[in-house]
Order: sequence, then C-alpha cells, then structure tokens
Amino acid sequence: MVKERARILVVGGGYVGMYTALRLQRKLKQELGRGEAEITVVTPDPYMTYQPFLPEAAAGSISPRHVVVPLRRVLPHCRVVVGEVTAVDHAKRTATLTTLATEEEGTGPRQLTYDELVLAPGSISRTLPIPGLADFAIGFKTVEEAIGLRNHVIEQMDIASSTRDPAIRDAALTFVFVGGGYAGVEALGELEDMARYTTRYYHNIQPDDLKWILVEASDRILPEVGPDLGRYTVSELRRRNIDVRLDTRLESCADRVAVLSDGARFPTRTVVWTAGVKPHPLLAATDLPLTDRGRLKCTPELTVDGATHAWAAGDAAAVPDVTAAEPGSQTAPNAQHAVRQAKVLADNIARSLRGEPLQTYSHKYVGSVASLGLHKGVAHVYGRKLKGYPAWFMHRAYHLSRVPTFNRKARVLAEWTLSGLFKREIVSLGSLEHPRAEFELAAGGKPSDESSGDPKGSS
Ligand SMILES: Cc1cc2nc3c(=O)[nH]c(=O)nc-3n(C[C@H](O)[C@H](O)[C@H](O)COP(=O)(O)OP(=O)(O)OC[C@H]3O[C@@H](n4cnc5c(N)ncnc54)[C@H](O)[C@@H]3O)c2cc1C
Repeated sequence: MVKERARILVVGGGYVGMYTALRLQRKLKQELGRGEAEITVVTPDPYMTYQPFLPEAAAGSISPRHVVVPLRRVLPHCRVVVGEVTAVDHAKRTATLTTLATEEEGTGPRQLTYDELVLAPGSISRTLPIPGLADFAIGFKTVEEAIGLRNHVIEQMDIASSTRDPAIRDAALTFVFVGGGYAGVEALGELEDMARYTTRYYHNIQPDDLKWILVEASDRILPEVGPDLGRYTVSELRRRNIDVRLDTRLESCADRVAVLSDGARFPTRTVVWTAGVKPHPLLAATDLPLTDRGRLKCTPELTVDGATHAWAAGDAAAVPDVTAAEPGSQTAPNAQHAVRQAKVLADNIARSLRGEPLQTYSHKYVGSVASLGLHKGVAHVYGRKLKGYPAWFMHRAYHLSRVPTFNRKARVLAEWTLSGLFKREIVSLGSLEHPRAEFELAAGGKPSDESSGDPKGSS
C-alpha cells in the first residue's frame, strides 16, 4: 500500500539528485499517482552540471550554458529549492537549509521536514595545507571554474604579449596542474591545445613559449584507463612538450612560485588543483553513519546503513561493490556509478513506499574515455583500448549519448559541427566576471570588491 503523500527530500541536484528526481517524477506520474508523494530538490544552483564536458567548455568547444541542465525545466513535477542544506537531523526527519531568501530576510536557516531522505551532495576538492594554495590556486569542478580558467589563460597570453618584463612574461606563460586523474589531464590537454592554437593570433608568442607542467604524486596518470594507456598518455603529453612530473608533489605556491618536491621552482600565475576529491562536509553535519573516509555507510540497496528512510548514492556514498572480487570493495566515485545508482535508488524508494522488496545495486565498471585535446584521446572500454583520433571520437560519441536531455544533445552536436566548420573561439570574456566595473568608474566611484574581485588565480 502506498503511504499517504510521502515527502521525499533530495539533497543535491547533480548526477544522483537529478536522475533520482527524474525517475521518481516519472514513477509518481505513472505508478504512484500524483498526490501520493511530493519531491523537493534542494541544491545551490538551479542546474545540474555535466562535469565530463567541463574540459571542452574550458577549451571553448562547448558553450557553458550547454554543459548544464536546467532543473526547473526537466523537473516540472518536483519542487526545486535553490539553497544549501547545512545539517540533517534524521532522527527528527528534519533538514536545516539556507536559501538566498533566508539570507536576504536575515531570519536564519529554515527547517524542512521529510519522510524519505536522499542525500547526494557529491564531493569537494581534496586539498592539503600547502602554503599559497588557498590564495592562488583554482579547482576544476564547476562550470564557473572551467570558464574562469579559460578566460584566465587567454588573459595571461595578453599580459605576456604586452609586458616588457621578461619575468612577468615567463610567469604568465607558465601553467601548473596538480593531479593526474581525468579532471586534471583532460583540463590540461584541452587548454594546452586551445592555447597553442591561440598563439597564431599573437605576433610575439610562439607555441614553445608556453610552459605546461603536470605534477602527479604517484608513478602514473589516468588510472581510470589502465597502466598501458596511462603510459601512452604520459608519452603523448611529453611529445607535446608538456612537462609531466611523476612521483612529484607541489610543496608550495606561496608568492606565486610553484615549488615542487623534486626541487624545481616555477614562477607562475596559474596553479590548477585537481588532486582528487573528498566527501562533502555536509555529511559530517548529519546523525548518519560515516566510514573512516567520511562517506555515508551504505548498503547494496542504497539505503544508509542502519537508518530507515535514508538513501544515498554517488560520490557521497560508500556503496559496497558486489561485483568486485575483493571483499569490502566500494564503488568508485564517478559518473558511471552515480547515474546507475540513481536509477536503482529511485526504484527502491518506490518499492519501499509500496512495501515491496528492494533491488541490489550491481554494476561492473566498464572502463573510461578521456579527451586530450581536439582529435586526441585515450579510451579503454569493455576491454578494448583505443588511442588518438578513434579514442577522441569515441569520447565524444559516448558523452553525447550520455548528456541528459535531447535538447542538450542537439545543442552540443550543433556546436561541435559549427566548430568543425569555422575557426576556434579565442576570445577571453573575463570582464563578464566584473559586470559593474565600467559603470562604477563612469559614475566616479571606486570599483567595489565585487566588481574588481580577483577570482582565484586570475591575476
Ligand atoms: C572535470 C571533471 C570531469 C569528470 N569526468 C568524468 C568522466 O569522464 N567519467 C566519469 O565517470 N566521471 C567523471 N567525473 C566525476 C563525476 O562527475 C562525479 O563522480 C559525479 O558528478 C558524482 O555525482 P554526484 O551526484 O554524487 O555529485 P555531483 O554531480 O557533484 O552533485 C552534487 C550536487 O549536490 C549539490 N550540493 C552541494 N552541497 C549541497 C548542499 N549543502 N545542499 C544541497 N545541495 C548541495 C551540488 O551543487 C551538486 O549539484 C568528472 C568530474 C570532474 C570534476
């Protein structure tokens, strides 16, 4: 029997949050019947970000609007609340939340009660106490960071082109990336490719004047595609004159000098930190059980272990990998699992509302694809290994098939087609980040912090 109007709270509007709400919304219409359950999605941004497209957005191959999915449009039968959950008292079935309105009203956080909780706030960058990191580095997890970094790289080329000081020029043209997982390698590969192309429009910058450095603490990069393709990627990047340093750590970036554990020092205005993720801090502000690494302890049915009516999946959840040979293994924090877990999670909520037995999540990782710039890539999928153009093509075909909604697919495909016919976009729109600066100057005031703010790493 379906419970009277179950209130389902989904925390997070990313992969897990959006796909869970989408499926629940459909079930609500088709099976559960309207009025029997209501879904509220709380998320800081009114859109879901398709993160695998961020490197291409940074390179200008896809425009930022098409990397995100508007939640209000795809979830018309859910209540979308733009805000942040700051704590959860599951014993009392209550979440504490702040929204733009609560800030404006100054009334303090609001309480939201629920019957079923889906906790999917994802992960945040895993940082270390490295001098200068918080002041000068930038991450690569959001569309704002990807576009900010694109603008910043082009801006550095403008600085280098116009300065007479060789030290400023050298620092402007030096780009340090820390972390050799797919976020770091793809971001570096795409941006290097874009910047190399862009040099043709500068009379005094040659491609070899740009210095790109990839710093990785372990002895390999791109573990997602396996050791062979990881080694190939290192040699491919080095062939492009990218300085790949394995078994090396960033020790400091204070005073805009990147100091590495092998003793190298690089004056630079760009440090991109992509050295892994850690569970979202919200998880620690709940009364739900966590693992040693801070992820939510989950069952293979995607319930939170020992807590009734609490569900989790994706980067925030430690879900047992029932397909792994090694006992105690957990599913990796990636989109492949997040999307599939969301489907099982939504089905299990519906089953639980109807008093039916729950399904177990089981998916064997099928491999990965990665782009290393235009027409370059590596792919290891279903045991098949591809390099270069075929891998890049597979990367695009795979992600086109995966990006949510027909609308996004059509727009992304149109952009790729157009960029194949015309030249690359090479403009920096960094001033978009300070829209009031010009007017403030015209009005005789001093630029405010908001308009003259220096986004991390951008000056
Ligand atoms: C650059 C990049 C490239 C990637 N490429 C790939 C790839 O090629 N293949 C792959 O499998 N994986 C890839 N990933 C990883 C993949 O994107 C993540 O594993 C996936 O997004 C996890 O889904 P999630 O729903 O757990 O978290 P997310 O998708 O990050 O969603 C979390 C959501 O919670 C929201 N949130 C945060 N705090 C709160 C709060 N306090 N209250 C409410 N909501 C909150 C966030 O705003 C966000 O909407 C990539 C990641 C990055 C950064």
